[in-house]
Amino acid sequence: MASIFGHIAAAAAIGQAGFPREARPVTFFIAGCLACAPDLDVIAFRFGVPYSSQWGHRGWTHSLLFTIVLGVVTALIFNALQPKNVSRRPLLITLWFVLSAVSHPLLDILTNGGRGCALWWPFSLDRIFFPWHPILVSPLGAGAFFSEWGLRVLASELIWIGLPGVGLVLLSRVFRV
Ligand SMILES: [Zn+2]
Repeated sequence: MASIFGHIAAAAAIGQAGFPREARPVTFFIAGCLACAPDLDVIAFRFGVPYSSQWGHRGWTHSLLFTIVLGVVTALIFNALQPKNVSRRPLLITLWFVLSAVSHPLLDILTNGGRGCALWWPFSLDRIFFPWHPILVSPLGAGAFFSEWGLRVLASELIWIGLPGVGLVLLSRVFRV
């Protein structure tokens, strides 16, 4: 996995670049949660589910199907709960939430460790990596993150997620004017 910082940064950059009118603290928070949510599957380790299983880490929760459905369902609930007088564009909120959730496995397949993601689950159980994986894989435990490894992960994510994210936001500003 990329770290939670990398995943949240990606969701924030997508929102700031593509959906500035929808960007509010609550939508940033939800988009950030969606970008991290697939890694809740690490709980499978506690139940003895092997890494290689489709139900294990980087399995079904890291598929395009699951992340798209997760984003759509969250947006449906969020949009339904909005007061009528809040100006909003529900389709754009939905798109942002879906892209935030989908960004998770897409970043994970750019990391250099662990198993690939079951991107095409349930149609294929193959674990996929992008041919080029520049992002240093993040440790699974929070404790291990506070180490030299953790710092190297943050440096690698600053280069491969942070800088492209800032570039995306700046580009969106240029083309919006
Ligand atoms: Zn992951």
